[in-house]
Amino acid sequence: MAASPVTTRFAPSPTGFLHLGHAHSALIAWRAARGEGGRFLLRIEDIDRTRCRPEFTAAIEEDLRWLGLDWDGPVRVQSGHFAEYRGVLDALAGRGLLYPCFCTRADIAREWAAIGQAPHGPDGPIYPGTCRQLSPAERASRIAAGQPYALRLDVAASLATLGAPLDFEEVGEGRVRCDPARFGDVVLARKEVPASYHLCVTHDDALQGVTLVTRGEDLRPATDLHRLLQALMGWPAPRYRHHRLLTGPDGKRLAKRDGAVALRALREAGRTPEEVCALAGEG
Ligand code: GLU
Repeated sequence: MAASPVTTRFAPSPTGFLHLGHAHSALIAWRAARGEGGRFLLRIEDIDRTRCRPEFTAAIEEDLRWLGLDWDGPVRVQSGHFAEYRGVLDALAGRGLLYPCFCTRADIAREWAAIGQAPHGPDGPIYPGTCRQLSPAERASRIAAGQPYALRLDVAASLATLGAPLDFEEVGEGRVRCDPARFGDVVLARKEVPASYHLCVTHDDALQGVTLVTRGEDLRPATDLHRLLQALMGWPAPRYRHHRLLTGPDGKRLAKRDGAVALRALREAGRTPEEVCALAGEG
């Protein structure tokens, strides 16, 4: 039986203009798909309504087109799908794997100051688990009183439901063992946003049939957690390719604030799409 063609995606957050680092990432995904007659999807990860702006979404599409990249099917815009993310949260909550967390950042810092040094995970200090201990009655009364809360994944309980350790396939490297516990009880729905990056990205990759996730190596630790969510939800495991991050002359990774490497700045300076593709480099 012939292997089905690859489906890749580029999934930027519209918090600024695309720069050379994004072009590098988009080109890797686009070439991986187009080289094999596969599908290349564009997804806009805009659940954080305070940081994302529609004009940046329009600019992303325009810049990619200018570069010569085309995508298959409609663009998925995450902010239109909160009900679907809610459905995943409900499924996990129904299995007792989520709990409401009422702590503020200051509460967490205070808690750690009392216990000792806060261990850090890939997303910052590990949550000390304070609200995991609350009784159902206490949770209900705080919610009824209108206290804002996030929803955290009970990682130990989640891992206990799995039959085998988790791993993923890194292209060119083979199987890589996962350690989702290093995130601690991660937030899956924030107080101010009823979802989170980790939740939406895994849901959407599964929904959209993504078979190869290409993204920067800064997101490699997140894959451990994404594999846990996939296993809990019975979603298929894509292959992963975490590519290097482009750096500027100062050796630091390119960021949206470095206006000089924005694709539209290069375009306005007279660079052609071919030149910009060459600057964005190979994987
Ligand atoms: N939206 C993420 C970002 O812009 C990328 C997500 C991913 O590729 O998994 O950093």
